[in-house]
Amino acid sequence: MNAIPLPYGDDPDTMVFWQATRQKRLVVQCCKACGRSQFPPHPFCAACAHPETEWVDAAGRGTIWSYGVAHGPTLPGFQDLVPYSMIVVELDDHPHIRMVGSLVAGPDAAINSVAASTIRIGLPVDVAFVAVSDDITLPRWMPRASEDIRP
Ligand SMILES: [Zn+2]
Repeated sequence: MNAIPLPYGDDPDTMVFWQATRQKRLVVQCCKACGRSQFPPHPFCAACAHPETEWVDAAGRGTIWSYGVAHGPTLPGFQDLVPYSMIVVELDDHPHIRMVGSLVAGPDAAINSVAASTIRIGLPVDVAFVAVSDDITLPRWMPRASEDIRP
């Protein structure tokens, strides 16, 4: 099986994010001047350009804002998994932040473990974490346990 491409865990702008996911925590940057949170991280506040930001915990709960389904051809590491969904999650506690990720049936389930026919805009999801290398633990999303996702 081909390896999937992974992010760099030592990038100065994203290193803290990957440190947090290894601890099963989802974090976003927050501006020390205006208080606005942001993701993906930047070396400064995208709203007011203040250079100092801090990382704050996010609850890891959200709703599906949009989604797509990959049918291929894809990168070699994903070819055996098509079709698989890619979702955009709007965070409950930072609703202007939307994270792209995978919807999975369980923390260690494959990225094609939830049938695309069961996905809907507005579906509540909770974050799950899966270690894919020594450095990188990916946040993935699971349908909230109370949700019925039968097609
Ligand atoms: Zn700011």
